[in-house]
Amino acid sequence: MQTTLTDSIEIATEFLLAGEVVAFPTETVYGLGANVFDEMAIRKIFLAKGRPSDNPLIAHIGKLEDLQLLASEVTPAAEKFIARFFPGPLTLVLPKQPTISSLATARLNTIGIRMPRHPVAQSLLQTCGVPLVAPSANLSGKPSPTTWQAVQSDLDGRIACILRGEQAEVGLESTVVDCSGSVPVLLRAGAITLEQLQEIVPITRLAQWNASEPTRSPGLKYKHYSPQARVEITVDPRTNQSSTESAFIGLHQPSATADFKRVKVCQTIEEYAQSLFQFFRECDALGIEVIYCEAVSETGLGLALMDRIKRAAHG
Ligand code: AMP
Ligand code: MG
Repeated sequence: MQTTLTDSIEIATEFLLAGEVVAFPTETVYGLGANVFDEMAIRKIFLAKGRPSDNPLIAHIGKLEDLQLLASEVTPAAEKFIARFFPGPLTLVLPKQPTISSLATARLNTIGIRMPRHPVAQSLLQTCGVPLVAPSANLSGKPSPTTWQAVQSDLDGRIACILRGEQAEVGLESTVVDCSGSVPVLLRAGAITLEQLQEIVPITRLAQWNASEPTRSPGLKYKHYSPQARVEITVDPRTNQSSTESAFIGLHQPSATADFKRVKVCQTIEEYAQSLFQFFRECDALGIEVIYCEAVSETGLGLALMDRIKRAAHG
């Protein structure tokens, strides 16, 4: 299959309404979209990514009215989060409408819903006129793509179209909160932080990954975000003795004696989050064996950043 590269919302929309899958920019990472009402198109997402069928997709909406097409109930906590954080990098899990294909939701009776704030994503959703299910536009198991070039390197020849945009602003996948019960549960940390959620609904809690909640967020059991290189978490980069085939990313300059092949010192935690997946991909292209990631405090955006780094380090 020939993959069309385009900057045109209209061309991307034509592909989507013809039942094809299209990669598009969002503020979190690039998504791989299909019409939520087209089961054949949804099937193509799983095929193109090599995604296990028990990993549910997030539905993206362009307008709040479309919530009713997807969710059978919008709980009071969800209402509050929507009023404060939509559009933005937040996914709410709600009871699903029976009309939604169980392929999209991996046979769960809930559906993840997000309204992206990225202008290109918004304009695409509005032009299509239907919600789009869209997981990250990478091959399953690879780091999520934050540039269209990363999408191209994973999916060229496997998807109909890539709608090009800038580098993703956040760089980490959306925050996922299960709002289907009476107490909201944070399933995946992201740029909308636990602290921000608790300001709106104080009883919001972190998911406990114990025997009682094994399948709350099915996708999280898979190896994620992993470069080819081994990832090591370091508390103080100054104490690191690196080998020649290693790289470093963090907030402080690493030891002057260390001989890193590539070093990325970020000015802020936001920049660290935005750069992480792209850095992983660059290191893989250079054949680097070990990537040292500086540990940060697990508060605010740091919770999401450390979650992705730990998954990359420990699988
Ligand atoms: P991705 O779009 O590739 O970042 O993956 C979407 C992730 O969102 C899944 O792997 C799940 O962890 C989570 N998710 C999506 N839908 C649901 C749902 N209905 N219930 C719980 N978690 C969900
Ligand atoms: Mg993904």
